[in-house]
Amino acid sequence: MDNNHELIIIGGGPAGLAAGIYAARARISTLLIEKGLPGGQIVNAELVENYPGFPNGISGAELVSLMEMQAVKYGLEITMAEVAGVSANGTDKFIKTDRDEYNAKAVIIASGSEYARLNVRGEDEFRGKGVSYCATCDGAFFRDKAVAVIGGGDVALNDALFLTRFTSNVKVIHRRDQLRATKILQERAFAEPSIGFIWDTVVEAISGEGHVDRLQLRNVKTGAKSALETYGVFIAVGFRPNTGYLSGFLSLSPEGFVVVNSRLETSVSGIFAAGDIRVGSPRQVVTAVGDGATAAILAQDYILSLV
Ligand code: NAP
Repeated sequence: MDNNHELIIIGGGPAGLAAGIYAARARISTLLIEKGLPGGQIVNAELVENYPGFPNGISGAELVSLMEMQAVKYGLEITMAEVAGVSANGTDKFIKTDRDEYNAKAVIIASGSEYARLNVRGEDEFRGKGVSYCATCDGAFFRDKAVAVIGGGDVALNDALFLTRFTSNVKVIHRRDQLRATKILQERAFAEPSIGFIWDTVVEAISGEGHVDRLQLRNVKTGAKSALETYGVFIAVGFRPNTGYLSGFLSLSPEGFVVVNSRLETSVSGIFAAGDIRVGSPRQVVTAVGDGATAAILAQDYILSLV
């Protein structure tokens, strides 16, 4: 494989694949580097109902597989490797992976984000055995079971509402007595008889015999400890950007998201960021795809400006 390209895209989720479609059709020599299989987090969505053009919805896996097919059809090269670092010397950009080194004139960072962990005892041990980070992926396994959702944001309430399709025993456990989620979701959740709330409470441990059967809880105001019997625990405490490999090179927000201007330009000329990884992303497939297209068009302008 040629290690010199005009454009390198890091990350094969919707933002990276959309950038790849645009770049390949512009006949820019482009390599997309993805550490696993292309797709990003949306592959876990059972049904994407808000992506325009699919009035009956489409599974996340099928949607990204169509995007990948479309990008490859137009000539996008994709390689599987984990990026270890990015550097620049003037207009030359260097990408070091666990397998090889590449250089390019422009780079689009689209390596997305991953679920934040709770970091409590039992979380790793029971992953896939009652611990889940994705209600839409796993909710159906919990039919008529008691389940708990940890968190008070949009994802936690969306998860709780989704889980009521399968069970009438959903507990939302939140560390404060006010939710962070948007009001309309709060109204829906409060009106849903299958959802109960446990306020001011954190999970100290997840336990069971081969499968989750209980949570050890602590009330943060009173210090009182208690146990909650549950068969499933859905952890929805936010997301962390995959930017570890960029620290010290690009400007990142205190939370680790890539700082961009309205043209998706980062602090280094010729490097753009698209999708969940950038500051202020609404975290939707459709906005990630829009970012990818924008970044590819602006990267093309940048490459042409060097000639
Ligand atoms: P979020 O808005 O950051 O909320 C995370 C929740 O988890 C907060 O309630 C937080 O508590 C709690 N939390 C964080 N760390 C915790 C810990 N260690 N222990 C216990 N609780 C903890 O994250 P999100 O719900 O994943 O949403 C992420 C973004 O995606 C948001 O911008 C959201 O609006 C967007 N989103 C939008 C939609 C939509 O339908 N439009 C759907 C999903 C997501 P505190 O409140 O106390 O900080």
